[in-house]
Amino acid sequence: MQRRHWFGSLALVLLGGVFVLAQPPYKALIIDGQNAHDWKGTTPVLKQLLEETGLFQVDVATSLPKGSDMSGFKPNFSAYHVVVSNYQGDPWPEETKKAFVEYVRNGGGVVIYHFACAAFPDWPEYNEIIGLGGWGGRNEKSGPYVRWRDGKVVLDYSPGRGGGHGPMQAFQVVIREPNHPITQGLPEKFMHVEDELYGWLRGPAKNLTVLATAFAPKEKGGSDEHEPILFTVQYGKGRVFQIALGHTAKELKSVAFIVPFQRGAEWAASGKVTQPLPPDFPTETEARVRP
Ligand code: ZN
Repeated sequence: MQRRHWFGSLALVLLGGVFVLAQPPYKALIIDGQNAHDWKGTTPVLKQLLEETGLFQVDVATSLPKGSDMSGFKPNFSAYHVVVSNYQGDPWPEETKKAFVEYVRNGGGVVIYHFACAAFPDWPEYNEIIGLGGWGGRNEKSGPYVRWRDGKVVLDYSPGRGGGHGPMQAFQVVIREPNHPITQGLPEKFMHVEDELYGWLRGPAKNLTVLATAFAPKEKGGSDEHEPILFTVQYGKGRVFQIALGHTAKELKSVAFIVPFQRGAEWAASGKVTQPLPPDFPTETEARVRP
């Protein structure tokens, strides 16, 4: 058994009774600075969740506020194993967009967290990378809805908005692909806390794997469909994981958010998941939160 003690990004690992200083194996970059959501409240939690795995050394790249000159925003994506986007706002400079696409195409990992799926409706490569997005004027021109019907994925090209949700509600997450590294070993069904249940996402949906869905009942403002809320996209050699959960820092305390997020980030960074199922994992009927 390994026990880890934390001093900044260095881990003091107890191995066979001897303490050794170990660098986390992966470098992660969280991107924020603009978002119609409370990015100032969520980024520190995302950072902490990554660091507590012992797998990531985490940097944050914060853009200038909305309406500023964005020409100086040039994160060095290629220095990282995974880029976690908590960004939704003004377009990035062409050079930065190009560098991001190259990074992913060459094998970089990406995690798209919650409202980052609303960023850049008019940037075609970004939409291919994220697979599905919402809001920002997205509609049938953005691509199909991805539906889970009768035990399989159905692409639905019917016209309509891209992105929406009913009022905050607790819901059950259902694993649809149990053989993916991110979901392997997780119970098939587990409860999440009250949160936004994203629906009607649409996009190119190329090379997309639905890992988990949540049913969005009509009487609670939903589509009456099983909505994809955890999914992956392969873009070039890059691995992309999208998690639609986690409206504010409060919802990030839900173990139904924490575990898929931590595992998804490791998979995006490396292609594998080494994290065990924690003992406080939610049940089919009961959500679990951490302090
Ligand atoms: Zn939200």
